Amino acid sequence: MTSDIIRRLAAVDGIMFDIDGCLVLSDGPSGRGGVALPGAAEMIARTRDSGRRLCAFTNGTAQRPSDIAAHLRALGIEVADDEVLTPAVAAARVIRERYADAPVLAYGGDGVVSVLRDHGITLVDPDDHASGAQCGAVAVLVGWDTDFAKPKLQFAAEAILAGAALYCTSDAPAFASQDRLNVGVSGFITAGLSHVTGRPWTVLGKPSEYAMDTVCWALGTTPARTLVVGDDVYLESGMARRAGAVAGIVLTGMATRETIADATAEDVPDLVVDSMPELAALFAEADLLRLALATGADR
Ligand SMILES: [Mg+2]
Repeated sequence: MTSDIIRRLAAVDGIMFDIDGCLVLSDGPSGRGGVALPGAAEMIARTRDSGRRLCAFTNGTAQRPSDIAAHLRALGIEVADDEVLTPAVAAARVIRERYADAPVLAYGGDGVVSVLRDHGITLVDPDDHASGAQCGAVAVLVGWDTDFAKPKLQFAAEAILAGAALYCTSDAPAFASQDRLNVGVSGFITAGLSHVTGRPWTVLGKPSEYAMDTVCWALGTTPARTLVVGDDVYLESGMARRAGAVAGIVLTGMATRETIADATAEDVPDLVVDSMPELAALFAEADLLRLALATGADR
């Protein structure tokens, strides 16, 4: 008898793979350095061969999506530049829709700034203004900015107090890397800005609805036909479950069977596998069902 999860996988037309702890174990954010996890390259190849769309979504914004894609390819994981998503991509879509051409104050390196520019976002240059209060920013977006010191804090806080909305690429406390938990920068800065201004923030990366919407947009799928695979119950499984997507957790990064057992009900994944080869085996079974359904044999 075919299990419910095999039926759901058979209906999946697109897969989002997290990067750190899922496809690679890196030395830094967004797959920098590090090694491909066993079976990751094969799972990407089999997804493509099965006719499904795929994307790799990291919450890291230290690098541009094209740089992350090149690094993954160097590790043998064949993804195209436009198959890599970051919160900067989700942020660009949200900002364009909400504010059109209005100026935005953005913090981060090329992984934030160049992505926003590529999407036609007008960016504030702090050097052109005496204070953040006068810069006219409608929004402040905080990404991976390791040089965020007092002058930036002052300027951004003034812009927020003058009415700019506060957005964050990711407020995840930490992510999986080779030797230890790597602590997040974007959420650290954003929480500090919220503290000094008293204003709340909105996350645009995982696990937000904006990130999930960007995944479905990139894959050309609906949530019900999308599998989200990650190593973090809160970031990936919770995001997928709220949207009605299929939530899969692979135990090669942050999550363990113990943390999954302790997760809140809405974050509990639909599927838990020890490794990518185990996920590939489930898809081999799902593809037989998919073929049978397509040919009308499963009656
Ligand atoms: Mg991860």
